[in-house]
Amino acid sequence: MDDAADSFDVICIGGAIIGSAAAYFLSESSDFDGSVLVVEPDWTYDKTSTTRAGNSIREQFSNPVNIKVSQFAMEFIENFHENTQVEDESPELNFRGTGYLFLATESGMDVLVEKHLIQEQEGATAQLLSVEELAKTFPYMSVEGLSGASYGGLNEGSFDGWALLQGFRKRAIHNGVTYIKDRVVAIETSGTRVTSVQLESGKHVSCGHLINSAGPRCDLIAKMVGLELPVEPRVRSSFVFACHEPIEQNVPLTITPEGVHFRREQQHYLTGTTPQADARADYDDLRVRSEEFEEQIWPVLAARVPQFDRISIVTSWAGHYSVNMLDHNMVIGPASTLENFYFANGFSGHGMQQSPAVGRGLTELITFGEYRTIDMSSLGYERVLKNEPFLELAVI
Ligand SMILES: Cc1cc2nc3c(=O)[nH]c(=O)nc-3n(C[C@H](O)[C@H](O)[C@H](O)COP(=O)(O)OP(=O)(O)OC[C@H]3O[C@@H](n4cnc5c(N)ncnc54)[C@H](O)[C@@H]3O)c2cc1C
Repeated sequence: MDDAADSFDVICIGGAIIGSAAAYFLSESSDFDGSVLVVEPDWTYDKTSTTRAGNSIREQFSNPVNIKVSQFAMEFIENFHENTQVEDESPELNFRGTGYLFLATESGMDVLVEKHLIQEQEGATAQLLSVEELAKTFPYMSVEGLSGASYGGLNEGSFDGWALLQGFRKRAIHNGVTYIKDRVVAIETSGTRVTSVQLESGKHVSCGHLINSAGPRCDLIAKMVGLELPVEPRVRSSFVFACHEPIEQNVPLTITPEGVHFRREQQHYLTGTTPQADARADYDDLRVRSEEFEEQIWPVLAARVPQFDRISIVTSWAGHYSVNMLDHNMVIGPASTLENFYFANGFSGHGMQQSPAVGRGLTELITFGEYRTIDMSSLGYERVLKNEPFLELAVI
């Protein structure tokens, strides 16, 4: 950073997918002509949620806002090259439209149908499948105990998350955004406004607006300005396995009634689940919970897909979900008592796909003081203070 540059219009605390999406959209906006600084201590992003994600995207949410948020991401993905190119080059996003498949037992059918009707109203392309249709479409799967499913179309699938991050970051830098390798250790305020941040290097940088995009450490940033944010780091383990008798067709991201998910990943398969013993994790605890595979995941896989009876783990890793303990949905927007401090936190397993809409939404709030495209005010900090959960039935 230029030594003279000790003041920026916007500072993002954290430059992984959310901080970089905000920086990207601010720098692309013709209505915003301010300066942007992204403070990020780890340029390898090794321990971030962003580099440990599954990078899937779906339309199959139950709340219209979440559906619209993902639909905007698909629009962004479709135009990814144009949106992120620098000197005619952009990273290879490699989107694969393989769909999501939500399986339901009889007790889950009402919710499945309820979600489907909302998705249909929002223009999503998912379709309901009877057990017979399910068995015909996915003959490798046992339909025992199932009553139906919801299968998404080409607007759902997976992509290269590192490419998405690099696309945002490189174009933002090209547009004039400054990235600095440093860490925010304190925040100074005056009345109802944030005035500056103090960096680990000792430098103070003043700002017009401050975005909390610190991922699983977001509650620590909130504490720096005296605010409580009920977002906790929770470990999620991912396992890639090889199947001795591979399945010769599309394997969409399938969510079983037990909450185990799996999909094809190149020539292997990716799987994970919500741990039975889910608890707040230490910020640096990235130990893979191998016992989850043995006890929770593999029995479900083998029962649902007979070919998954003979598999071997190829690799595994752990990452953090930032879980909003109120309702498992993001918190976006200004703090009511601190008008220029913005939350962009608590994404659980959805932050990669939600990053384009979040970056654009923050840009609108900072530029116009209101949302101009997707109204995300129901996802604001006010609901946290009032203890009023945002209702979303499809959280994985
Ligand atoms: C196993 C797993 C699977 C997932 N699968 C999906 C999926 O399929 N689809 C999907 O959409 N999402 C998925 N997610 C969720 C997604 O990865 C996250 O929601 C998203 O990456 C959150 O991004 P972030 O920028 O908020 O946080 P992070 O990526 O964690 O980045 C936070 C950044 O803030 C920086 N930081 C922290 N403290 C400070 C400070 N004091 N000063 C400056 N910088 C700081 C950190 O260094 C870090 O770079 C998954 C997550 C996991 C763990």
